[in-house]
Amino acid sequence: MTTNCFSPEYYDKFNCIASACTDSCCRSGWEIPLDDETFEFYKGFKGLEIEKNVEDGTDGDRIFKLKPNKECVYLDDNGLCRLHIATGGRLGEICDKYPRFFEEFDGFCESGISVSCPEARRIVLAASKSDYDTVCMGGDCSDDELLNYLIDARRTAFDIVFGSKTSEEAAERLLVFGALVQDGIDFGDLIAVDESELNSFTPSGSKPLIELCRFILDETEILYDDWKNSLLSFVEGKNSVADVSEDKKKSYLAYLIYRFFLKAINREDIFSVCELIYMAFALSTELSIGFDKAVGLFAKEIEHDCVNFDMILDWIQDNPIEIVENGLK
Ligand code: SF4
Repeated sequence: MTTNCFSPEYYDKFNCIASACTDSCCRSGWEIPLDDETFEFYKGFKGLEIEKNVEDGTDGDRIFKLKPNKECVYLDDNGLCRLHIATGGRLGEICDKYPRFFEEFDGFCESGISVSCPEARRIVLAASKSDYDTVCMGGDCSDDELLNYLIDARRTAFDIVFGSKTSEEAAERLLVFGALVQDGIDFGDLIAVDESELNSFTPSGSKPLIELCRFILDETEILYDDWKNSLLSFVEGKNSVADVSEDKKKSYLAYLIYRFFLKAINREDIFSVCELIYMAFALSTELSIGFDKAVGLFAKEIEHDCVNFDMILDWIQDNPIEIVENGLK
């Protein structure tokens, strides 16, 4: 049986801009694994000295060595990959795939491009609602009742984002929506939440963003000084308001929904996922490093690190934002 695979309309627009890239993944300092098959292939190219230029990573994977400045050892002075040039374009699985991501669900799979890559980010942050018409929107995507419920809810979440007056309003309505969908899951009542119900509820109190930043600083593994310093500044009260168009901010919210919403199936906890989206969005608009950089660093530090991601989701689960009925605050 073939599995249906879905991706947003913009997915095929991505092309690596290589030497023109301002924040190359080859300079990221990441541990980049090299698969066995490509390793064997590279051995046939004497000048590449592949055996000398790999080592064991922290997970035991075979990874490329880095230069002292954290660039991949195969990046040349022109910002091009020597392996790619010498072999006529053959890359290892991970290098070839990045910045594309793939998610398997019961009955279907989805793929996208990650905003950790600046070129992918440029494309994703210009996306509109119709770009997501090509992802799984319900029907016969899965036989799993809860997953289908979440897929239907995700469609409404996209409507909320693009139908709200402002991105801030959209983020808040999304949070309330998550709470109502969660009620359906908790009470075994998987009935679609109508958008009109959102007007009756509101988040109570201020969002615990400083507490979350403290947790990220104290508990997660941090790769980049820019991320650490911007969180520290925020905790010390130095924040800013991003001068970014509403369309771009809504595109980011839509990306966060696409990237994370269906992950709720693992914990049966869509409210925490919506809180995560709400907080990620708030960080992107309030950190003093600016919107684009904050979006990219959140992806590099949290989206790409499943340990950090799970720790943050645990923290959010333990520190829920209260949603109250209007008039009962
Ligand atoms: S970050 Fe993106 S555009 Fe830049 S080199 Fe890597 S894949 Fe190419």
